[in-house]
Amino acid sequence: MLFQRPINIALSALALSFSFASSAQAADYPSRPITLVVPFAAGGPTDVVARSLGAELGKILKQPIVVENRTGAGGTVAANYVANAAPDGYTYFIHHNGMATATALYPALKYDPLKSFEYVGEVIDVPMTLLARKDFPANNMAEFITYAKANADKINLANAGPGAVSQLCGSLLQQALGVKFTTIPYQGTGPAMSALLGGQVDVLCDQTTQTIPHIQAGNVKFYGVTTLNRISKLPDAPTLNEQGLKDFEVKVWHGIYAPKGTPAADIAIFNKALKAALKSPDFTAKMADLGAEIVSEDRQTPESLKKWVQSEINKWTPILKAEGINVN
Ligand code: ASP
Repeated sequence: MLFQRPINIALSALALSFSFASSAQAADYPSRPITLVVPFAAGGPTDVVARSLGAELGKILKQPIVVENRTGAGGTVAANYVANAAPDGYTYFIHHNGMATATALYPALKYDPLKSFEYVGEVIDVPMTLLARKDFPANNMAEFITYAKANADKINLANAGPGAVSQLCGSLLQQALGVKFTTIPYQGTGPAMSALLGGQVDVLCDQTTQTIPHIQAGNVKFYGVTTLNRISKLPDAPTLNEQGLKDFEVKVWHGIYAPKGTPAADIAIFNKALKAALKSPDFTAKMADLGAEIVSEDRQTPESLKKWVQSEINKWTPILKAEGINVN
């Protein structure tokens, strides 16, 4: 009893100094520019979302959000970089389905998607579209299926590397058609789209956040959307599901993360700013225009994102392992 008191006093003094330190940190946070790491090349769909979101977050947090593209290995180079970055509240990371597919695709992965990060919240869902170069012989999905089955060995399929959703979509497409194309990986679907527009590759599966302007301008052949139901932005575009590829579905989701150990007070401030940014008229209008859907508020939380990533790991690991895709 006699010995307990000084210890208690010391402990409460310690607790007081901790709470002081964290509230002091939160009070002037952020006090310098924040880096938002993007795992794919500039100009692609993830980059477009990061830059639009970064502009809103910058206004709300009153500090510039500096987008940093760290490309390679389907997003795992960037994820590994962020997992090892200083957990000081000044590095955040936007990533998509690749956060959940990497464990199955990269057995030698040096980070754990569930343990190496703090989770901030989900951002948007994006449908994908199946495209070919403008002068590709097939004019619609029925012709594409016939042509692809007869000429698979002549077809080049672009993607953003193993773990990217373009790769996932392309794999499911080849599986559904029972064919094998030649895959050409890029550092993101920004450069993959440039290659498609330049006629260097034949086929690309990519997010509407990049493809809608090219579809509307008639720069590409467009065969359909990868969601089970048609999307409001392209109401006349049939789904692949309704054109013979039964149950074909690939949906892209984006979440925000930070290095493990980032102060909870900073994450809370960033999450509050994220929720405000996801309501801002400029961001919502831009995303609607590009066919993306902002997630409901209950999904904009660390807990919801973590649950979702876990469920996606559980869903995709057996599928990808069965496919035998292994990049190590
Ligand atoms: N859309 C790409 C993918 O296939 C990545 C990107 O460049 O944003 O995952």
